[in-house]
Amino acid sequence: MSDRKQKIDKWVRRPIRELAAYHVPDASGFIKLDAMENPYTWPAEIVESWLTQLRTVSLNRYPDPAANDLKQLLIQTMHVPAGYDVLLGNGSDELIQMILMAVSGADRAVLAPEPGFVMYKMIAGFLNMPYVGVALRDDFSLDRAAMLQAIAQHQPAVIFLAYPNNPTGNLFDDADINAIIAASDGLVVIDEAYHAFAGRTWMQRMPEYDNVVVMRTVSKMGLAGLRLGLLAGHPDWLREFDKVRLPYNINVLTQASAKFALQHQAVLDAQTQQLTRDRELLSNEMRQLKAVEVFPSQANFILFRTAPGKADAVFQTLKQHKVLIKNLSHAGGLLRDCLRVTVGTPDENAAFLGALRSAIHS
Ligand SMILES: *Cc1c(COP(=O)(O)O)cnc(C)c1O
Repeated sequence: MSDRKQKIDKWVRRPIRELAAYHVPDASGFIKLDAMENPYTWPAEIVESWLTQLRTVSLNRYPDPAANDLKQLLIQTMHVPAGYDVLLGNGSDELIQMILMAVSGADRAVLAPEPGFVMYKMIAGFLNMPYVGVALRDDFSLDRAAMLQAIAQHQPAVIFLAYPNNPTGNLFDDADINAIIAASDGLVVIDEAYHAFAGRTWMQRMPEYDNVVVMRTVSKMGLAGLRLGLLAGHPDWLREFDKVRLPYNINVLTQASAKFALQHQAVLDAQTQQLTRDRELLSNEMRQLKAVEVFPSQANFILFRTAPGKADAVFQTLKQHKVLIKNLSHAGGLLRDCLRVTVGTPDENAAFLGALRSAIHS
């Protein structure tokens, strides 16, 4: 064994060495329906005025460290309750990391329903925190009894509830969420990454509790390239999380571009509304194929289940047709035989449907 390898084995913690790096497939040449991106760009005149705006940005200067203009705009457009504030992250992934860094400890559990968003578990692992995944019921609803039992047993420092949930697409029941918040001494993070497609939110209910924060991102709204997430919460909580934030985490181009985009929110809203309508059209057409089970979605993606053991073949046939979606079947459990498709443009959806038809009949 080389010296370098020995040193790495000695110093890099075993759980990190044993991790597979988060794999993002190369999508060049594919119709990309794997990552919940908004497929639409902006009209040419909007692009022009955005570029004009960017000309005024000082790349030689550090960004506004507090990003106050952007925060105020987000507080308005996201209807953050009076007296509440927002904390910005380089994507909501960074906010998850900041929250967990602030509470971390080898005896402090992180809890989330499963299947769920993978970063909760991964970041808990990076920080050496025990992670508790509680299985959803067969219909992807919260198993209230199992959640309450796990909360009593592990006393989690943080519970993550994605609303709607990724990768299942459903909204959890309000009464179940209420029971979980009431039973929890730790912080409950309601992750509303898909808020734009869901029509429901905990934002206005947050002040009824002293242990609830609401996380949003602009990624799924159509600005995934900017990397901007926000945590809405009581200033007392946010002040603590802000202490572990690296200075200048939101760069000048993101600050300027996000401000510009929020001032043209109508463009993004029209796109997300179109995607929400097309989600229903696509779901219905998929159901008519009969060969797959299509789960209801309140997000910009659709989870579906193939006949037993067929998911890999369907996924590969789609790839041969140059359509890239997400194969979740290897996660097993409730995701056995499951694939997830992001809603694209009508043309992309039609290409996906055509490829799915041939996959099923081949
Ligand atoms: C996509 C996603 C995020 C991460 O969003 P970024 O802001 O792009 O980091 C967070 N939570 C859920 C449930 C997601 O699906």
